[in-house]
Amino acid sequence: MKKMLNLVLFGPPGAGKGTQSENLISKYGLVHLSTGDILRSEIDRGTALGKKAKEIMDKGELVSDDIVIGMIESKLDDNANAKGFIFDGFPRTTAQAIALDDLLQKKGTGISGMLALEVDDEELTKRLLKRGESSGRADDRNEDIIRRRILEYNTKTLPLKTFYSEQGKFHSIEGIGSIDQIFKLLVDRITFLDAEMDLTALESDLEHLDLTIQDFEVANEIAPELLLEIDAIKRIEAEEAEEEKENRKQEAKAKKATTPAKKAPAKKAPAKPAAKKIAKPAKKTKPAVKKKAVKKVAKKAAPKKAVKKVAKKKVVTKAKKVVKKAVKKKVVAKKTVAKKVTKKPAKKIAKSKAKKSGKRK
Ligand code: AMP
Repeated sequence: MKKMLNLVLFGPPGAGKGTQSENLISKYGLVHLSTGDILRSEIDRGTALGKKAKEIMDKGELVSDDIVIGMIESKLDDNANAKGFIFDGFPRTTAQAIALDDLLQKKGTGISGMLALEVDDEELTKRLLKRGESSGRADDRNEDIIRRRILEYNTKTLPLKTFYSEQGKFHSIEGIGSIDQIFKLLVDRITFLDAEMDLTALESDLEHLDLTIQDFEVANEIAPELLLEIDAIKRIEAEEAEEEKENRKQEAKAKKATTPAKKAPAKKAPAKPAAKKIAKPAKKTKPAVKKKAVKKVAKKAAPKKAVKKVAKKKVVTKAKKVVKKAVKKKVVAKKTVAKKVTKKPAKKIAKSKAKKSGKRK
């Protein structure tokens, strides 16, 4: 999967999605896709879509899924080389979330995470009314419309928490505080997401590498060396076999010379093929000769074992080298994750420490 940072900035109207999007765009160089902004620009340009949308927006209701999904699709196409996207005010319904997953999947990517800015309804109403004084947005000035928008959010958009939770992508962010404080929380969470994405990518790389190591190493490096060594062993074996044959000849000659009387029974035995003659001497030879033969067999077997060992060691060493490199990267990523993970439950640890010390008293 293509590594892109695709964030859904989630939260009720007035949670600060627009403000934080601007900060995130300048930090991460992401493309900002705000369906609210796109719709407002359609209204400003007086397009047919704008006219249709205005009626709905002025009531504080949601524009149809088809319209906003179509808008997002064309924006994704327009920004094919983006490093990533911030989806702001989209998706707002489960149908939109499903459509977004499909669109991104077609482009070989997906949502990295949903960052949900959590702000209570009273604070939201206050913020929106205040924003209405300066933004010029009709839907920010009327308290009834504001309440309607919050209601739309609670009934149609809130279920998306479950949608993204089920994918392990939901991240709750405290949305009350200074802009900087909230931005820092978002950045911390994104660093965590980024490290997590690196880990996943690395894991799949390693999986892939395992295959490559075996194929590449064995074919290009280990195999030629093995072949050379096997050739050498074959040569040695042939020489040894020749030597043994010669020895046997000599032994037979010597026997003939020392025990001429026993020559006769040999005539009874039918002539045997040469190969069998080589196979049998072990039985016939004296203990000293047997020992020699055993030693020779052991000698022959030993290098084979050694070669196997060396080859195995080489494969393992090479694989280890490649994996080590990858693991170094992994460790860095893990450290970042660990930092973020330990940062997150810091409050919990402090709490449990306080509890423990309380118990001791
Ligand atoms: P926003 O600027 O995100 O608060 O959006 C302003 C208004 O635009 C909303 O109240 C809706 O009427 C409409 N709108 C924006 N985004 C969407 C969306 N994803 N789905 C449906 N309606 C939307």
